[in-house]
Amino acid sequence: MTETYNPAQQKVIDMLGRSSDRPEIPTGLADELRADIENSLLPVMHLLPDGSSYEKRFFLNKQGVTNVHSCEGFFIGGQGEFEWTHANCKGTIVHKTIEVSINLRQPMPPTDLVEESISRLSNDSSKSISEFLITLDEYDRAELVGECSGLFTRFTECFPPIKNAWIPQVESSLALNLAGNRIRIGGKVDLALGRPPDKVIIDFKTGHPSLAHHDDLRLYALIDFLALGQAPRKVASYYLDSTDVHQEDISETILRSAARRLQDGLVRAIELKLGGAEPVLRPAALCRWCAISADCPTGLEYLAQKNEAEGW
Ligand code: SF4
Repeated sequence: MTETYNPAQQKVIDMLGRSSDRPEIPTGLADELRADIENSLLPVMHLLPDGSSYEKRFFLNKQGVTNVHSCEGFFIGGQGEFEWTHANCKGTIVHKTIEVSINLRQPMPPTDLVEESISRLSNDSSKSISEFLITLDEYDRAELVGECSGLFTRFTECFPPIKNAWIPQVESSLALNLAGNRIRIGGKVDLALGRPPDKVIIDFKTGHPSLAHHDDLRLYALIDFLALGQAPRKVASYYLDSTDVHQEDISETILRSAARRLQDGLVRAIELKLGGAEPVLRPAALCRWCAISADCPTGLEYLAQKNEAEGW
């Protein structure tokens, strides 16, 4: 029986479903890109930890790659301590709820599912979010349940029901080991559908679209490509608030550009974190959230000019 979708769900199917005009990926490209990255690391090999255990590896994730390309000062010390807030925990709760909903044998009301997700996350002491969730008072918790239920309901209304035949993988880890396991590039995919070469990687986002979201997904496509030798067919950001879908077909050009970005960022990250290189400051909007902006004359000057231009 043919599935009937509402217009919003059909839009997702049309954007992410199979198409016949898939870009050709040359045989041997994965080996070539991996070799390029490995070669670029040779000048910084002496700086790397020995990789004898998980802790003794140089670790970089998508945020680190983005930060080192943004402002090197921010990469080194600008992020500050991560803190869970009402705003940033919503994504984790909704992801968890989506994850569970895919494997439910009987549908549950959205509020019950969100309640259950919050309870599970609260009780999981291995997750830092639990420390935040258990401190919420009744009002804050109820508010969070309401907001997350709203996002989750919108997702179920606008995203096509995910079938088992699509081989969904939720919150699956991706990793690329380099330099004889002395470097690990890691990440987590919110949702992957299908098997390579028909795989589609989807990141769920709350908040505004950003160019960095494209870069994150290209990095994930590259990691998958280097691990499996087959690239995903497509990557997409799915915005939970607006239900917008920003998708991109994975081509040779995109894989080459993602490899170059990773290669340059990785070498520079090692030079900065392990080699004590002088950071190049690139003031930008990021300065507003930078933990060291009060001690950064470059950032302060940028912010002062920006505030003046905006009439503050
Ligand atoms: S304040 Fe701005 S320029 Fe200075 S380190 Fe932070 S992000 Fe970079």
